[in-house]
Amino acid sequence: MRTIAVMNQKGGVGKTTTSVNLSAALARAGKKVCVIDMDPQGHASYHLGVEAAPGTRTVYDVFAEHCTVDDARQLVAENLSIIPSNIDLAAVEVELAATPGREFILRDAMKHWQEQNRFDFVVIDCPPSLGVLTINALCGVTEVLIPLQPHFFALQGLSKLFETTALVTRRLNRDLRVTGVALCLYESGTRLAADVTEDLRLFLTSSDPDTPWAGAKIFKSRIRRNIKLAEAPSFGQAIFDYAATCPGARDYAELGQEVLAMTDEGIVVPPAASAVPQPEGNVIDDPGTARAA
Ligand code: ADP
Ligand code: MG
Repeated sequence: MRTIAVMNQKGGVGKTTTSVNLSAALARAGKKVCVIDMDPQGHASYHLGVEAAPGTRTVYDVFAEHCTVDDARQLVAENLSIIPSNIDLAAVEVELAATPGREFILRDAMKHWQEQNRFDFVVIDCPPSLGVLTINALCGVTEVLIPLQPHFFALQGLSKLFETTALVTRRLNRDLRVTGVALCLYESGTRLAADVTEDLRLFLTSSDPDTPWAGAKIFKSRIRRNIKLAEAPSFGQAIFDYAATCPGARDYAELGQEVLAMTDEGIVVPPAASAVPQPEGNVIDDPGTARAA
């Protein structure tokens, strides 16, 4: 079971669009996929046609130990399910402020999935912050996929994100790696997009091999700006159901193929067999201060 957190503390860079459409692409390729909507805005849920009205079991209920991940999971298409969210999830940051081991709630809730190899992929749509929800995502996965909009300030924002993954790898989850960067909202043919991509490539290839992002791949598939991708969420449909032949569907289908190929190419390193016991307790002391400005 591969576990991928789609993460970037900036909003509007394509996290949700990528989580949903990449997951749909993998499901269409015959893989069993579960999306976890870790954003209290609930956009991924909505995008897959699930409105988490009051009474619906959500990620919040998993955190509050009202139910299991299996109880909260909803099937939305063949091979594709989601654990939805709504604004209730925003309370987790405060409610868990003093709970020991709060970084590992999601990891522990999914433990039997890992053991049973329940899915081929679990894809987590992270919120635009570096608080306790994102830390839970990073502790529950081995792979981070970063959607990046190649504009002038994009690389500056990455340093905080990389620092956070380095901190998590050091102290909470040593199996965590940044495995890929997906260029989203890509304006083909522009000088700026090409320059930012080249700067990113230089940064990644010159990074210390001990960093969790060493060896991260810049996906060849560029997710071009395409209006159909912006329209699909309001119809509660992944792009393949909404507009199967548009450029956005082609780009995400290609990204799906690249993500699948990573297993064969050996880019995804399986977690070490002799897992060292993970530290318990509140290692991240105040996730509130880590929240991006
Ligand atoms: P995030 O989850 O990082 O906040 P979203 O995936 O919600 O970002 O994307 C932000 C906005 O941009 C949404 O309205 C989405 O529909 C739109 N969008 C994302 N990717 C594309 C794209 N490639 N082309 C056009 N619109 C896009
Ligand atoms: Mg989002």
